[in-house]
Order: sequence, then structure tokens, then C-alpha cells
Amino acid sequence: MKNILKKYGLLVWLSLILLTGFMITLFTGFIASRNLLQQQIAEQSLPVTSDAVVAEIQKEILRPVLIASQMASNTFVRDWMNAGEEDQTQITRYLKEIKAKNNAVSVFLTSGLTHRQYNASGTPKTLSETDARDAWFARMRNQKTPYETSVDADAANHDSMMISVRHRAIDENKNFIGVAGIGFASDTVRNLIDQYQNRFHRKIYLADTKGNILLTGSNAGNLRGNLTGIDGLQALAPRILANRKNEPLHLEYSSDAGNVQLSTRFLPELGWHLLAEQDTGSDIQPLQNVFLINLGISTAVMLLVIAIAWRSIRRYQKKLETSAETDALTKLLNRHAFDFVFQQALLDSERSRQPICAALIDIDFFKKINDKHGHLVGDHVLREIAAICRRSLRESDILCRWGGEEFLVLLKNCTLEKATSIAENLRNTIASNDFSRTTDLLKQKLTVTVSMGVAECKNHETEDSVFERADQALYQAKTNGRNSVYFSE
Ligand code: GH3
Ligand code: MG
Ligand code: MG
Repeated sequence: MKNILKKYGLLVWLSLILLTGFMITLFTGFIASRNLLQQQIAEQSLPVTSDAVVAEIQKEILRPVLIASQMASNTFVRDWMNAGEEDQTQITRYLKEIKAKNNAVSVFLTSGLTHRQYNASGTPKTLSETDARDAWFARMRNQKTPYETSVDADAANHDSMMISVRHRAIDENKNFIGVAGIGFASDTVRNLIDQYQNRFHRKIYLADTKGNILLTGSNAGNLRGNLTGIDGLQALAPRILANRKNEPLHLEYSSDAGNVQLSTRFLPELGWHLLAEQDTGSDIQPLQNVFLINLGISTAVMLLVIAIAWRSIRRYQKKLETSAETDALTKLLNRHAFDFVFQQALLDSERSRQPICAALIDIDFFKKINDKHGHLVGDHVLREIAAICRRSLRESDILCRWGGEEFLVLLKNCTLEKATSIAENLRNTIASNDFSRTTDLLKQKLTVTVSMGVAECKNHETEDSVFERADQALYQAKTNGRNSVYFSE
């Protein structure tokens, strides 16, 4: 693990940085857009929907108010009552007409004088002074406001609302003469709720102050009974029912399908709570898809970046390694790399008790070659000699460019005698080589000789000491006429 970290540290870090960067960006982006979407649904879409439903309810109430008001101020009604409510068939016919014309569920007229209540079916009844159900009549007689409305949801089938309006009737002198009333069944609100349900997947329902659900759309599903019995809503029901503000209250809860945003408001004129909610699961789905696509793209980009980085690093490392180890001109090991290889070879030879020899090669009068033929030819000679050495020696022997025009050969598993003979062969090969054959730089034959000094590495001898002895042998070769091999005993 430690090794992997050391070797691939940069890549591991790069991957981690990219991964965290991408993840943080993607997640925060996703969360921010999801929150924005939910907030937009909760604070804009849902309140707008409730407003529309409230406006529709108010509009639905307005129509019966107008009809009741017309009935209450109708001259015929007034005259008939002033005349002593004599011909009942007349008022029955009038009420029947109103009922039929407006498609009302009920129409009535109550006399202030006799307390008789006439209806379209011609079966009047007299209101009781004591019956609580008739208490509204005494209340209307004394009240200042001209009418009162009541809206009842048809709790039995959740299908429609019953809107009833009672309007005070007064004579020319503004004296109370009775009450005109009309009741409508309306499914307009419910249709509107259905429309929202189908188009925007919003659920809209109305509940009374106790939490009993009064009105919902036709696809209400499990929206029956009381708010406290609906999954996810139980915990919120007390807050919803305690809300007495005619402005939206924003809440949210989790259902099986996911997050649900809820906007609720109280309608004081009806004593109802309007709830508009939206399951945001399907709205968030596209965001999730975008998130997944982005995740895929990011992963691809990340892998690509890592692959490119990996390739560049590998290439660079290889370059560094080779340039640190080899000599650019001859492609032989350089002296720095040789040190390490030599130590290994020395240890091997001690372990295996095999002799090992070092041979130092120095080109004779190389300076003159440079001076006479130019530096480029000098370089060519160096390269060629390196190639000859490589060709002549065994695969296991180690060859190195020791200095300017000096080479060092390490002959493994080789006695001093054998090494001297190999060196002699090598010297001979070089001396008989025509260096002009392999270059266009030379027009004439060029021969080059080398001098060599050979030394066997003795047990526990230091590197410096071996080279020192080889160098001394080489010096001997130089001083004794060059183009020869000398060895150190
Ligand atoms: P000796 O026989 O005593 O060894 O004489 P020499 O001229 O070979 O030795 P000396 O040390 O006087 O000169 C070595 C020359 O090798 C000097 C230097 O300019 C040349 N030289 C060293 N490295 C390079 C190289 O990479 N390319 C070329 N062209 N010349 C080099
Ligand atoms: Mg030299
Ligand atoms: Mg030389």
C-alpha cells in the first residue's frame, strides 16, 4: 500500500482532488436546483393554485348572492307580502320559475310578518321561535349586513358544494319584511381541482376546522375522512388546523412517493382550510437525470485526465531514468549509473567466488583526431568504439563511458589472464577498424588505436583501489608506446 502510494501518489491525489471537486460541484448543484424547484413550487405555484381555487369559490358564491338580492328587492314579492300573502299559488309559481331558471337546488321566501317560509313545491312551513335550526331568521331580522352565505360540501360523495345565500328583504321604508334564499349545488370548484390535479399533479382539498375533508378532486384516492388519518399528514395536521391566517403557510412532508410540498391557508369566510400539495418526485426526476448524465460526463473527463496525466508522467519518468543512466552520445551507461551496477557485480562475484576484472580503455591521441578531422569525427569515433566494444563483449559484461574518451569494461566471471586476452582482442579489433566506412564525414581511411589497463578485483578491495590499479596499468601502456594492453598484478 505504502509503495503504491509512493509510486502512484500524484495520480491518487489527482484522482481524489478531481473526484471530490466533481462530486461537490455536482451535489451542490443538484441540491441547489432541487431546493429552488421545491421552493418555487411551495412559494409560488401552490399559492397561485390556492388563489385560483379561492377566487373560483368566491365567484361561485357571488351568483347566488345576486339572485337572492334580486328576489329580495323584487316588486312583486314586496307587493305580494304587503297584500297579506294571500294567493299562495302566485308566490309558488314565482319561486318555481326562479328555481328552474337558475337550476337551483332550493329557493325560498320567508315572511317577516307571518314567519311562513314559502318554497317552489308549494309546501310552506312556519319557522319556530324556539327551534335552534330556525334561529338564523331572528338573527337576520336584526343584522345590518344584507345577506349571509354558507357553503357546505356534500360530504357524502365529495362531488359538489352546496352554496346557500339568505338575503334580507326590506320595503320602501327600509323595514324588514322577510328573507329570500337560494341554494346551489356547484361542481365548478371540484372541476377546477380536477384540472389542477390532472395538469400539474397537484392535490387540492378543503377541510373544516376539525380536519374533516370536505371537498377534493374526483381522483382523490385516499383523501377521505380526517387530515389526521392521512399518511404523512398526521404530524402536520395540528399546525394546519391551528393556522388562522388567510395567507399561505408553507409545509412539507415525506410520503411513499417522496417529498411533498404543501401550501395551506385558512378561508375565514367559510371556516375552511384549503390545502394544495404537490409531490415533487416527478418534478425532481429530470434534475436527477441531468445529475446522472453530468456524473457520467465528469467520470469520463476524470478518467481521461488521469489517463493523460498517467501517460505523461510515465513518459517523463522513463526519460528521466534513461537520461540519468545513459550517456547521450554513445548510449552506454554513464559513470553515475555504473557505480551502482559495479557495486552489485562486486557483491555477486564475492558471493559466487567468481573472479571479476575491470579494463580501462583510453583512445590514443584522441585530441589529434579532433584537431585534424573535427569534433564531429571525434564523436563518430567515440560512438564507433562504443559499438565495437558492445559487439565484441559478452552480454553479461558491463560497458560504461568512463570519461571524455575513456571507457570502462567490467568482465564478470573472468580471470585476469582471460580479461587481458579479451582486452587484447578488443584492442586489435579497434586498431584494425576503418572508421571512415561508417561515416560520410571522412573521405579517407581512418584508424584509431586504444591503450588499455586491466586489473582483477581482489576480495574486499574498494572500487577506488581497483580503478586506481587499472589506471596505473593504462598509464604504463601509454608511456610504453600506446596501442597496447597492460595489466596490474
Ligand atoms: P593520449 O593518447 O595521451 O590519451 O592523448 P589524448 O589526446 O587522447 O588525450 P587528452 O586527454 O589530451 O585529450 C582527450 C581529448 O578528448 C580532449 C577532449 O577535447 C576530447 N574529448 C573529450 N570528450 C569528447 C567528446 O565527447 N567528443 C569529442 N569529439 N572530443 C572529446
Ligand atoms: Mg584520456
Ligand atoms: Mg587518450
